[in-house]
Amino acid sequence: MDLWSDLPTGLNLSSASTHNNEHCMYFHLILTDECNLCCRYCRAKAFEVLEESDDETAPRINIDPDLPRDLDFDLDLLYNFLRKDPAPTLTFYGGEPLMRADLIDRIVREAPVRQFMIQTNGILLDRLKPEIVNRFSTILVSLDGDESLTDYNRGNGVYRTVMENIRKIRERGYTGELIARMAVTERTNITDSVHWLSHNNDCSFSSIHWQLDANFAGDFSRRQFAEWARTSYNLGIRSLVTDWIDHMESEGAVLRWYPFLDPMEDLLLGKKSLLRCGSGHANYSIMTDGHIAPCPVMIGMKEYYVGHIRSADPADLGRMYVGGECDGCGIYDFCGGRCLYSNITKPWNMAERKTVCGTVANLHSALTEAVPRIRALIGKGTITLADFAHEKFNGCEIIP
Ligand code: SF4
Ligand code: SF4
Repeated sequence: MDLWSDLPTGLNLSSASTHNNEHCMYFHLILTDECNLCCRYCRAKAFEVLEESDDETAPRINIDPDLPRDLDFDLDLLYNFLRKDPAPTLTFYGGEPLMRADLIDRIVREAPVRQFMIQTNGILLDRLKPEIVNRFSTILVSLDGDESLTDYNRGNGVYRTVMENIRKIRERGYTGELIARMAVTERTNITDSVHWLSHNNDCSFSSIHWQLDANFAGDFSRRQFAEWARTSYNLGIRSLVTDWIDHMESEGAVLRWYPFLDPMEDLLLGKKSLLRCGSGHANYSIMTDGHIAPCPVMIGMKEYYVGHIRSADPADLGRMYVGGECDGCGIYDFCGGRCLYSNITKPWNMAERKTVCGTVANLHSALTEAVPRIRALIGKGTITLADFAHEKFNGCEIIP
């Protein structure tokens, strides 16, 4: 069967997601490099002794040593830049962006944008005034699953603090999308964690996203990643896809699990995808000095900057596509190249790369095999294509 063209009767592009058009861009704004947590898979790695890479082709990345720690430019420059785009989306990012709640308060009141989003660890979420929080269309909160797993990775008491803050913002009138964003490691049982965040009554998340901790910063040999991917994660993904469709069948609703939702919509529509996080073609990041990078993780990677807000035109930013080892990959149109940053920094040797790409291939085949069952549910009217609608480039990388 041709998955890209055999659409069920009644499916058409106009019933699909909110997608940006050519000139409505998404921008992450880095407010600060400061963070109030030291998570195991993030800042804590800075204190570990790491192995030297044996990959002689790995590029040397020069990081700008003079990049300011906090946003350090005239905000009018930012507003003038955003005004050149007909309907920009601005996502606050860090470090932990709520360390600069003062800037968020001001920018939300002043910036000429279509919508605001934020990616936060949630610890300070209750400090923003309701009139500011309630302006966000989407809030991504980092949590890794249940209390014990989250606190193991992120620190004692984090889970309860974040849950309490989520309860408070909902009580104070926040009705936008609330995405639980999980970092997934060998300690994660992906099935249990996704179900916990989806169905636990204490959680009021609208959506779930997860991302593999696969940027092996010289620690691959100390990890059990390949074995875990083979014996736990990949099997868990297949089981979750089945659960996802069972829920469609029994409840007539599509759970907003982003690594499934976004690619499945494209499979149903027969659409190919560029890099699904949008980096380098729809989603750019404004550094603390006003330079523009293709991706929010490429902080200080000045050789890859595509302009400065002082003079750049949002409709004419340099485009970067994932190439290299991804060229010629049979599932490129599904994967989009997974990650531009990794494609540049090359954190993997061949075996490691094969393991990571194996998880993408597994996701692809699990979703592809699920298409006929989903089409049948759409055909029966149990669900509709519109149930897969979502905002693109909302901070979810999509391909874990
Ligand atoms: S599966 Fe791997 S090789 Fe293929 S497009 Fe994705 S990242 Fe590239
Ligand atoms: S997936 Fe890669 S390119 Fe995309 S935002 Fe994340 S680090 Fe950047």
